Amino acid sequence: MATEDDYTAQPFVPDHGGLAALREAAAGCRGCPLHRNATQTVFGAGKATARVMLVGEQPGDQEDRQGRPFVGPAGKLLDRALAEAGMDPADTYVTNAVKHFKFTQAEPRKRRIHKAPTLREMTACGPWLAAELALVEPELIVVLGATAGKALLGSSFRVTEVRGTVLEREIHGRPERLVPTVHPSAVLRAEDREGAYRGLVSDLKTAAQAL
Ligand code: SF4
Repeated sequence: MATEDDYTAQPFVPDHGGLAALREAAAGCRGCPLHRNATQTVFGAGKATARVMLVGEQPGDQEDRQGRPFVGPAGKLLDRALAEAGMDPADTYVTNAVKHFKFTQAEPRKRRIHKAPTLREMTACGPWLAAELALVEPELIVVLGATAGKALLGSSFRVTEVRGTVLEREIHGRPERLVPTVHPSAVLRAEDREGAYRGLVSDLKTAAQAL
C-alpha cells in the first residue's frame, strides 16, 4: 500500500516537449492525494523566455475553478504591485510550489477554506517546479511567502529574516538568484493592509533592480 513517503510527481513528468508538454502531463498528475478533491491542476503560466519566475504557495479557490495561477484577489493585488515596482508582466512566469488546491469544507456547497500543504505534499509536487525552472531558466526567482520559500530553500526558511534581499543558492543543481517576499494573500489579510502592500512593492522593486 502506498504511504506518504511514496508521494511524488516524478513518474508523471515528461523528459522532453517543453512547457506545453509539461502542462498537459501535469493535468493528469496523481503524485499525491491533492488531485482528488481539487477541480483541476493549476500549472504555471507565462513564456519560457520570461526573465523572472514568481513562485507562490498553491492555487486558491478562483485559480482552482479557472485553471490559471494568480487570477483571484491575491493575483490582482500582485499584478498591481508588480506594475508599481516597474516589472513587466510579459517578463514573468507565475507558478506555485503545489499545483492542486488544498482546502477544507464544512459541508458540500459551503465555502472552501484554504489549507496549507504539508511538507510531504510540497516535496511530492517539487518535480514540476524543478522542471519549470529547468525550462524557463529565469534570471531571478521571486519567492512569494513561506511555503514557496520552504519548497525552494528548505524547511528552515523564514520569510521575515530574508525578505527584500537577493539570495544566491543552488537549487535543483542550478545556481539561482532569489528575492523572497510575502505572499500577496498575506497582504490582503494584514491589519495594516497599506503598510503590508508597501512592503511587498518595496521587495519587488529590489527584485526589479536585481535584473
Ligand atoms: S499537488 Fe502536485 S504532486 Fe500532488 S497530484 Fe497535484 S500536481 Fe501531482
